[in-house]
Amino acid sequence: MTTERVLFEGGRIATLAGEVYDDGALWVEGGRIQRMGPTAAVKTGFRGQRVDLRGRLVLPGLINAHHHLYSTLARGMPSLPGPAAKDFTGVLEQVWWPLDRALSLSDVYLSALFGLLECARHGVTTVIDHHASEGAIPGSLEEIARAADDVGLRVATCFEVTDRDGPEVTAAGLAENARFARAVAADPRPRGAVPTLAATLGLHASFTLSDATLLHARELREQLGLPGVHVHVAEDRADPAHALKVSGVRTVERLHRAGLLGPGTLAVHAVWVDDAEVARLAETETLVVVNPSSNLNNAVGRSDTGRLLQAGVRVGVGSDGMTGDWLHELVQCFLVRRDAAADPRVGWDEVGQLAAGTRAVGDVFFPGAGLGTLREGGPADFAVYDYDPWTPLDADTLLGHLLYGGLGPRARTVVCGGRVVLLDGEPPGLDLAQLSARAREAAAALWSRRRGANP
Ligand SMILES: [Zn+2]
Repeated sequence: MTTERVLFEGGRIATLAGEVYDDGALWVEGGRIQRMGPTAAVKTGFRGQRVDLRGRLVLPGLINAHHHLYSTLARGMPSLPGPAAKDFTGVLEQVWWPLDRALSLSDVYLSALFGLLECARHGVTTVIDHHASEGAIPGSLEEIARAADDVGLRVATCFEVTDRDGPEVTAAGLAENARFARAVAADPRPRGAVPTLAATLGLHASFTLSDATLLHARELREQLGLPGVHVHVAEDRADPAHALKVSGVRTVERLHRAGLLGPGTLAVHAVWVDDAEVARLAETETLVVVNPSSNLNNAVGRSDTGRLLQAGVRVGVGSDGMTGDWLHELVQCFLVRRDAAADPRVGWDEVGQLAAGTRAVGDVFFPGAGLGTLREGGPADFAVYDYDPWTPLDADTLLGHLLYGGLGPRARTVVCGGRVVLLDGEPPGLDLAQLSARAREAAAALWSRRRGANP
């Protein structure tokens, strides 16, 4: 279902670029916002379908700067038998790596489909994905692209190359990135002249990669003309410890020497970084993506967003597979920052910088589209929230509503590139009952199969 020409009228519209229209309208046509502003002005001369937004709030489609769609079928997954993991490496070995090895291509499709639907239900229209399915590598990124097309969101994805499962798996991961990058370059599946698909080169993390693989990655990135790499960096203290052991320098410096940092690279987490590494991230204009709930869940420490921002690092926000609710992660950033500083004066001014950093991540993959804000001529990516507050909502109070309003789960109607992704909470054209039954069956089989998936 596409909105060939629709007027969304009579609601509150916050552009996240400074304007809030109390009685606003969006004229959507050809996948783009043709006109935006006060309803009385926008509706002049309009002929076509109209959608009433009274009592609703419209925000731009949000961007999740780091997600793992493949983890969607893990929701509710019981632990494997044996003692609980005592640290982050143990969690990877006991929970995530067996799952990665047990995923089939069909699981990859279903997990991406439901992961993307969950994002849409929280107003997210662009997802930067980091994929792992070591037991089903060739064609896996195409399954994610197929799910993106079926749901209707924009997705930038890549395969997390790793040496942890041997040289054949390393080579297959590199090849899958290359295959997908070429397919996307040939056809980025544009909507309203803006691509809906993008590629980058995925790397798991420095501590599961050899120098030889880092060199291959650099060469491949250059050959394919990709913007950078998407890699976990210093999520746990084990990562810099490994880098020091194998290369004599910490993680950020190891990746820098390998030629992998730069303005198109996503360095995800940056929890265990020293001052020299923070300076290096700033100097190379590398984008850091923080994921507060995931860090809390894994008990690995906290990304110090205040320190990163003060040093001039651009910082975006992701969810790291924990949730599709990106606004919740933004709130977590704010709360964790205050808690860590034990100071209720900090954090407020930094939220805008985190939102800008997240938009910068969107710009890496969809350059020139201006995702994450609403403007005339821009792509029609927006969400309509069931949110009619009992206190004033204007440009001055908007941030308070975003942080304390519990907006995330209230997105009811979502449009991406002019295509209706959700209409009053439901995805048009998808048989959810049938797909959910398939996913539950696939998840149960996956959980059971992963028991035999440890080497
Ligand atoms: Zn991650």
